[in-house]
Amino acid sequence: MSYNNIETALIHGGISTDERTGAVNVPIYQTSTFKQDGLGKMRGYEYSRTGNPTREALEALIAELEGGYAGFAFASGLAAETAVLSLLNTGDRVLISSNVYGGTFRLLDQVFNHFNINYTISDTEDPAAFERDITPDVKAVLIESPANPLMTITDIRAIAEIAHKHGLLVIVDNTFMTPYLQRPIELGADIVVHSATKYLGGHSDVVAGLAVVKTKELAERIAFIQNSTGGVLPPFDSFLLIRGIKTLGVRLDRHVENAQKAAEYLTKHSAVKSVHYPGLATDKGYEVNKRQAKNGGVMISFELKDNYDIKVFFESLELVTLAESLGGVESLVCHPSSMTHASIPEDIRKKVGITDGLIRLSIGIENIDDILADIEQAIAKSEVK
Ligand SMILES: *Cc1c(COP(=O)(O)O)cnc(C)c1O
Repeated sequence: MSYNNIETALIHGGISTDERTGAVNVPIYQTSTFKQDGLGKMRGYEYSRTGNPTREALEALIAELEGGYAGFAFASGLAAETAVLSLLNTGDRVLISSNVYGGTFRLLDQVFNHFNINYTISDTEDPAAFERDITPDVKAVLIESPANPLMTITDIRAIAEIAHKHGLLVIVDNTFMTPYLQRPIELGADIVVHSATKYLGGHSDVVAGLAVVKTKELAERIAFIQNSTGGVLPPFDSFLLIRGIKTLGVRLDRHVENAQKAAEYLTKHSAVKSVHYPGLATDKGYEVNKRQAKNGGVMISFELKDNYDIKVFFESLELVTLAESLGGVESLVCHPSSMTHASIPEDIRKKVGITDGLIRLSIGIENIDDILADIEQAIAKSEVK
């Protein structure tokens, strides 16, 4: 099949039809095992932890979209990260962007630490500072750009160049951008991970993770780890993700249009103290982000001025739902310091700038006027007079 654009790849990429029947969607192969025609005579599949045709279709699709050698589907974003971090050995250290997802921090801080696989929080926004943090035990860097929840931008190309000079593996969590807006492998990454729970799934109805690797060697190692540790994505969930990815382009076009309007509205609002959104020309990450991504993405965080009560703000929202997660068609709002980033100790949160007043918005694809009217009435109610 020949095409040149990602909008088409989203729909026809990977393995997009069923060879045997001509079904235009890959069926849900809800089976744990596969008949063997004789000893050692398998038809390409043996057991669904090792490989399943529905999961394989998704894995081929994400590999194509990210421009990698192979893709792997896991039961959650953290299961994908666990498999990728399992490439490291005892005594190794990984540098992480200063505001990574709270669960990523917890995984390193409270699980991998037990195996003497260590981490250092590094200011990947500043390539020179990052290079100074590379000690002999550092074997990998894990970047989020935009990083959650302050939407800080890392120059992926610059960090990858420095990292490779020192022999490090470059891992990028591309959850917030997706391959529709940013392709880290083209910028120098070795591995891309996703919480596909978010934009790729897109409908807040599936928890899933994906990893894409650049080389055959990494693919063999991750395939081995995936099969050995077993956190694979079930066939039905794989089907839901393939279905979600088909509309990723049209969804994100609307998401981003709405987010841009919401960021501009918040910036002009007299009740708002600060806005973090890399799609604003005034944002500190704007220029770097513009070089490496299609636009500023969807996620926004902001703070209200001190004479607004954020508890009342959250409770007054009617349309915008207070919930963990992001990336669904519906607008969600969260309070990072008590929700998504609560597993990061308070002193570290303060140091990286995750204040108790910070509000994170995942703008949905509803009519933007309705979303903004809801935010407006909640701000008005939360003013302390
Ligand atoms: C949600 C999220 C994760 C974790 O993914 P799960 O699917 O919840 O396990 C990792 N990274 C980022 C940026 C996320 O938003």
